Amino acid sequence: MKQSSTKKNVGGTRGQKTPAGTADSNGHHRVNSRNKEPNGGSLLEKFFVDQLKDIYYAEQKIVQSLPKMKEAATTEGLKDAFEDHLHQTERHVQRLEKVFRMISQKPEGKKCEAIEGITREAEQIITETTAGTMTRDAALVIAAQKVEHYEIATYGGLVQLAITMGLERVADTLDKTLMEEEDTDQLLTDIAENEINLCAEQEGNQYSWQKEGLREEVSMQN
Ligand code: FE
Ligand code: FE
Repeated sequence: MKQSSTKKNVGGTRGQKTPAGTADSNGHHRVNSRNKEPNGGSLLEKFFVDQLKDIYYAEQKIVQSLPKMKEAATTEGLKDAFEDHLHQTERHVQRLEKVFRMISQKPEGKKCEAIEGITREAEQIITETTAGTMTRDAALVIAAQKVEHYEIATYGGLVQLAITMGLERVADTLDKTLMEEEDTDQLLTDIAENEINLCAEQEGNQYSWQKEGLREEVSMQN
């Protein structure tokens, strides 16, 4: 597997450790007591746990969605990518359960409206496109990349917060998932560019006259 891309502000624990907490005898990390709420836990810790619940819910939703996307796809490479990422996503759920245990919290999901919307959009794409077309596959790739980008944003932020709070093992664990999301995003781009988009363009479609109109409009503006 390739290395995590070290994009600014997204993931990557290397050389950025700013420990602010302590580990107990079980190796579980505790955040320092600054900015504590009366019932325990800092505000930042509460936000962190809240975001963990959000992505825990999202990952489980993605486990339900990927088989439908695989079923709807035509290109073998895309079907395989969805199948492989389904197995990875099941591991992401387990990894999050491990992270909840590391910070002595019960694994619990919180309804994530964003992933509900993004997966609903993917299902709409399936109903609005014709089975067996590359146009559908091209649209499915974009739908899947919207999911990946939501995950990358969430995991990237969580890794950085974990580092800030001194939760190094938590940061490392979440960073593994972040790398897999980034790899999947890149793989989807490659599949679209190499196997799908040109074929979709060549399929011809009912909107070609609109596209011509759009080109004319653009050239008139320039
Ligand atoms: Fe995931
Ligand atoms: Fe993913």
